[in-house]
Amino acid sequence: MSQELEIISSAVRVCTQCDLYKGRKLAVPGDGPVDAKVMFVGEGPGAQEDLTGRPFVGSAGKLLTELLASIGLDRSSVFITNIVKCRPPDNRPPRKTETETCVDLYLEPQIRIINPKIIVPLGTPAIKTLMGDDYSATAVHGKVFRRDNRLFLPLYHPAAALYDVRLRETMFEDMKLLRELLDGKEIVVKPIP
Ligand code: URA
Repeated sequence: MSQELEIISSAVRVCTQCDLYKGRKLAVPGDGPVDAKVMFVGEGPGAQEDLTGRPFVGSAGKLLTELLASIGLDRSSVFITNIVKCRPPDNRPPRKTETETCVDLYLEPQIRIINPKIIVPLGTPAIKTLMGDDYSATAVHGKVFRRDNRLFLPLYHPAAALYDVRLRETMFEDMKLLRELLDGKEIVVKPIP
């Protein structure tokens, strides 16, 4: 990891800027190379992530790893993080103030440093946070958007697909678009206003 990313990770690990730090075992800054072309952003750490300090290592993470493998990508080649870096109690959704604080302090700088070509927000909370309140996973999954020079490919959250065979199939279909984007195929892209 680059020095700049390591500085952010170190700050995340000792962060007390919102109440989520009170319930965490370990904060989860995110993993991946500084020159990653693709950044996956989930909602927030779950129980396994809180115990290990690493993103997407539980059952949703296992599915994410499979999704990546299905298009020939290894986890180690992409950056994986969350909109909030500490586990919300009982896995409740992160509150607006928690999200805003964490995104301003940590996610935005991570995006600036890594400068990924493609951001993949996983699930509606990440989609709304990164693309705007008008967007939801049901409406926009598997469509490609552009803001400035960055592409966004919103997907369902892998946790939603764990016990739903049809959503699972949809996620594997949607991932094929990421392969096409990486291969430079022409794809319809909608602007994010
Ligand atoms: N769900 C998330 O949104 N993020 C994780 O890191 C794990 C599960």
